[in-house]
Amino acid sequence: MADCIFCKIASGEIPSGKVYEDESVLAFRDLEPQAPTHVLIIPKKHIGSIMALTGADKELAGHILTEVAPAVARSCGVDEGGFRLVANTGADGGQTVGHLHFHLLGGRSMTWPPG
Ligand code: 5GP
Repeated sequence: MADCIFCKIASGEIPSGKVYEDESVLAFRDLEPQAPTHVLIIPKKHIGSIMALTGADKELAGHILTEVAPAVARSCGVDEGGFRLVANTGADGGQTVGHLHFHLLGGRSMTWPPG
């Protein structure tokens, strides 16, 4: 998508602090980290949000949850202490970038409920 900032990061047009990459997924450091570890995990192809996922994305979504997020957590050293994985979705969910992304936050104790 031409005007999508995360598509530009996925294509390398905009530089990012990459922590993981494979053919379908990229993970990079958030510009405004909210925790010592704050990584965004995105599909390289443009998907607007969780609500735009279809059956054709099952393998991709499963890959992110079962392989990429644990690998990122391990590589950032938060796998044992624990972390939070969250996908803000839509206006009330606090989503500000319209390209599906999972925040992986760790390195400090999280509170609940979130704001
Ligand atoms: P959302 O608010 O949609 O859940 O999360 C968007 C996240 O993207 C925010 O945490 C914000 O700091 C991050 N972000 C926005 N623009 C950029 C950017 O250009 N580069 C990086 N690395 N993070 C960004």
